[in-house]
Amino acid sequence: MSGTAAAKSAEEEIKSRARKLSLAGIEPCLGIVRVGARPDDLSYERSAAKRMSRLGIGLEVLELPADITQSAFNRAFEAFNKKADIHGILLFRPLPVPLSADYAARVIAPFKDVDCMNLLNMADVFTGEDDSRAPCTPSAVIELLEYYGVALKDRKVTVIGRSLVFGKPFAMMAIRRNAASITICHTKTVDLKEACVNADILVAAAGVSGLVTEDMVAEGAVVADVGINRTIDGRIVGDVNFDHVESKASYITPVPGGVGAVTASVMARRVLDGAEFTRNTK
Ligand code: NAD
Repeated sequence: MSGTAAAKSAEEEIKSRARKLSLAGIEPCLGIVRVGARPDDLSYERSAAKRMSRLGIGLEVLELPADITQSAFNRAFEAFNKKADIHGILLFRPLPVPLSADYAARVIAPFKDVDCMNLLNMADVFTGEDDSRAPCTPSAVIELLEYYGVALKDRKVTVIGRSLVFGKPFAMMAIRRNAASITICHTKTVDLKEACVNADILVAAAGVSGLVTEDMVAEGAVVADVGINRTIDGRIVGDVNFDHVESKASYITPVPGGVGAVTASVMARRVLDGAEFTRNTK
């Protein structure tokens, strides 16, 4: 399942929405809040700037010093959140110790909350009410499965990872789509292999390279690899041992060029949703 292909097919629709907004006098803009200068954040920021600009979306970065106090961070975030010309906000997390993102998560306008920090948006995902503002990555996996015609309905799904940005919301989204069962695995799971080998759809989001090996995957299973891990020689790899699992799986996502590519399109759409909300409530 090529994320690059799925993202490419979504491009025209995204560009056309951005053009319509621009004609209506609204230049859609993503705001990134970065505290400090972690190399991974900087590299994400550079690629986000390129991708957004190709899609007709602007980018504004609020750069704050790593040693900022909690109250100064809260004030700066709140002021950024109030800017009318910013339609979606992404805060790079985790924040440097001892800063907390709790206040930011409470005050961020739900319609600007591109990665579901605000618990009001997260509650909608967990009640099954509405997952249009779910975190971008689980939405990207759902979109990728849909693009390749893989239904969740009636399938046994296993997800490795129980974080709030991926594992837990993904499980809720799979239930909403009538997956037959969903198994959530984590570091305390006793028999990971058994939980994985029984899955029709296996989604790995642990952040551990080589975690999923051939013997953990059922013949013909669908495998989505969310993990992003950097090897000693600087390459990016996922959680799944792609070369060995590929021949067993009916579908598998590569890393890079898999889930991450679609995550970027989902984020662009979230910004456009925010900009359209602004236009419609003017
Ligand atoms: P996290 O560290 O918050 O959570 C990892 C989860 O995996 C935890 O719940 C942990 O219990 C589980 N886990 C770790 N090691 C395990 C093991 N050996 N066995 C079973 N479970 C294990 O990470 P996260 O923010 O959820 O991200 C997960 C991965 O996805 C990371 O590699 C991250 O870089 C990547 N990621 C990718 C995208 C994308 O667009 N592709 C977006 C966000 C995160």
